[in-house]
Amino acid sequence: MAETAGRRISILGSTGSIGVNTLDVVQQLGGRDAFDVVAVTGNANVELLAEQAKACGAKLAVTADEAAYGMLTQALAGSGIEVAAGREALIEAASRDADWVMAAIVGTAGLAPTLAAARRGADIALANKECLVSAGELFLKAIAEGGGRLIPVDSEHSAIFQSLEDDQHHAVERIVLTASGGPFRTWTREQMAGVTAEIARAHPNWSMGLKISIGSASMFNKALEMIEAKHLFNLKPDQIEVIVHPQSVIHSMVGYQDGSVLAQLGCPDMRTAIGYALTYPDRPKLNVERLDFAKLARLDFEAPDEVRFPALRLARTALERGGVQGAVMNAAEEIAFHAFCAGRIGFLDMADIAEQVMEDMVGFDAATTMDDVFAADAEARRRAAETIARREMAA
Ligand code: NAD
Ligand code: MG
Repeated sequence: MAETAGRRISILGSTGSIGVNTLDVVQQLGGRDAFDVVAVTGNANVELLAEQAKACGAKLAVTADEAAYGMLTQALAGSGIEVAAGREALIEAASRDADWVMAAIVGTAGLAPTLAAARRGADIALANKECLVSAGELFLKAIAEGGGRLIPVDSEHSAIFQSLEDDQHHAVERIVLTASGGPFRTWTREQMAGVTAEIARAHPNWSMGLKISIGSASMFNKALEMIEAKHLFNLKPDQIEVIVHPQSVIHSMVGYQDGSVLAQLGCPDMRTAIGYALTYPDRPKLNVERLDFAKLARLDFEAPDEVRFPALRLARTALERGGVQGAVMNAAEEIAFHAFCAGRIGFLDMADIAEQVMEDMVGFDAATTMDDVFAADAEARRRAAETIARREMAA
């Protein structure tokens, strides 16, 4: 514990699935004796945010939801914890002097605060894959300029990070991202057509937030992860493979030019990747379930099906086209995801809408500034919303 004593950390998105797991890891590694928590942030779930802030001794609690400011102030009255609300407050919180920042806000909402933390030079533990999918090189540039480290938290990317030998990047032939296949792994398109968000969110192995659970069912999550991997590990599109592995025990692999494949394995529990990101390059002692190979007995693999799961094909297209296509795919999918959850479109429409918006925006210039990224993101959202509205009118 000595090596972490007094380490200043912030958790952006502390009330979410990754955020709650992060606070659990922080607690396991000594809690308030080992860490100074600079800031915790959430959105609508103010009660949990206040409870967390008190429990971990945070200096500052921020809700992104301005309307919740009064409630948060009330919940933290007399605690001495500073309270703030709104988007700007979130960015200000991310800019405070933490050594390590967990970026676990969901969706593009996480981009501006994570960038702020990166520019200031904090080590970034990156759960919010949307940052890299949307802003790619510009986000990496912000990290490089700030001087902090970028440590992946997404289980697949943590596995690759752990399986990459120092100074052997030149010998990497390919990376193999594993995918559980989600709840519809064996379903036909006809069966998937009529499912509701309630059915789609039930993931077989992992317990996660709503967006990523639906994204696992449609494999849009894997699509985002392919683009995330390209940026994190500086890969060419044809170096990125996806394999369906229903047990989610192998978290991903690196294939080298001598034919060797290195993998990281573990029970499906995000706390291992979070702990690794928190104490890297050390491995913390964590109370998580251990793999029992005899009980496991077997590991299965299947080739992914890009016809039933077109998101994978869209990711390849985005990778090959480059430019702002990642940002466009991500933004259009986010709008389509909300429309699906609201029952406005069907499960399969999500990929259709993303594909159409990507096609429509092929001519968009590559982003040279963050404003270009935000502009492409906004335009993709506008077009996705328009497409959804048009479909509703036609129906
Ligand atoms: P979640 O929905 O459980 O939590 C999201 C967090 O973001 C919450 O704290 C919420 O209050 C906050 N938030 C939501 N909307 C916001 C807004 N507009 N502004 C500011 N804050 C907002 O999500 P999660 O499953 O914890 O995922 C978080 C991120 O981590 C996502 O990018 C996801 O892809 C990634 N990730 C998650 C897992 C997982 O196991 N859950 C695994 C790998 C990667
Ligand atoms: Mg993942």
